[in-house]
Amino acid sequence: MIRDLLKRAAVSVTREAASGVRVAGAALLFAIALSLAFCGICASAGTLAPARSVILFIGDGMGVQITSIAGLYAEKELDAELNMIRLANQGTTGLMTTHSADKLVTDSAASGTAIATGVMTNNGVVGMAPDGRVLRNLFEDAIREGKAVGVVTTTSVTDATPASFMAHILYRGEHEDIAGQIVESGVNVVLGGGRMFFQPPPQGERRDGNDLVEIARERGYQVVFTAARLKAAGGGSLLGLFAGEVMPFELERDEVVIPSLAEMTMKALDILDDDPDGFMLVVEGGRIDHAAHGNSIEDALADLFAFDEAIGLAMAYQQRDSTLTIVVTADHDCGGPAITGTSHAYPHHGALDEIEEGESEFLRWVSGHHTATMVPVFAAGPGADRFKGVQHNTELHTRLAWLLGF
Ligand SMILES: [Zn+2]
Repeated sequence: MIRDLLKRAAVSVTREAASGVRVAGAALLFAIALSLAFCGICASAGTLAPARSVILFIGDGMGVQITSIAGLYAEKELDAELNMIRLANQGTTGLMTTHSADKLVTDSAASGTAIATGVMTNNGVVGMAPDGRVLRNLFEDAIREGKAVGVVTTTSVTDATPASFMAHILYRGEHEDIAGQIVESGVNVVLGGGRMFFQPPPQGERRDGNDLVEIARERGYQVVFTAARLKAAGGGSLLGLFAGEVMPFELERDEVVIPSLAEMTMKALDILDDDPDGFMLVVEGGRIDHAAHGNSIEDALADLFAFDEAIGLAMAYQQRDSTLTIVVTADHDCGGPAITGTSHAYPHHGALDEIEEGESEFLRWVSGHHTATMVPVFAAGPGADRFKGVQHNTELHTRLAWLLGF
């Protein structure tokens, strides 16, 4: 039942954090404090960078419209507040435009590249300029500065958004090449789907016969394929591949076999946290977009709430790290869903019951494709004020780079 799932996602982590409960599996005892009191320049030792570490949450396809519906649903049906709204109210709110170099409506490759490198490129291009020039990304900057880096997603780790931080390729569909670049990228934690692109048959579908899982192990990665193995994984570099390609929608996820986005985020933080120089973690709610392409409000909301659960976890973690800034945004809107009136009436609050089932005349989608609508930017922590106002996604990069002193 979607309601139960959303209820768990919206409030459970918040409650655990508020009561100081140790969240299972990670050695993170969260503080109780609910108000954040960050100084403007909480510089880490030896640098003038405002923040030592950053967690960048990217809700793929999460424009202001699906965010509005999710917030309304949480408020009216659950008497709860989205964690991302709490984050915004503790920090800063902005908006972001997303057009690419060649299109009014971006795809994840161009948008991810803009965020990761600060350069506008064409749709479909990952980590490169339209002329094929290789662009340096934030992970490469972070690694140069001695920081740990990681990426967590519910799509394939080779998909355009995560790939923008780990690869450089002219065509986003070259998943096997992207997987090859990932294992050589020096990224410390990589968790998501996409096993088929890392291994030849029978485990995967690589056509060149190379087993990248073996290569990753040679490079020092611990490699895991199940939720239980993820939970047991120790420190060091970690590669977790929990689905052949994309991971299941949240409503279809087998909790025993496949970890939640929050569980993956928790493990990533547990590992990255060990680096005294700080870290950069990118967490993608990758399937909000896929649900929106299919005009499925149930799956879009459920995956958004699973994404929000991970944000709640990060906010609880932030209570004990005053050098950490959390930024929540999207790469683009998808589908432009809206709760609206008809010529007969505006919907009563009770209409949310029908809307969550996707059967309401009051729910409309603009399309089954991305739109050019602005996306939200929520931030809290040192330097968060810099993210206010209306910014293009290339400017988000500039601000993130400034935040970490690059
Ligand atoms: Zn899409």
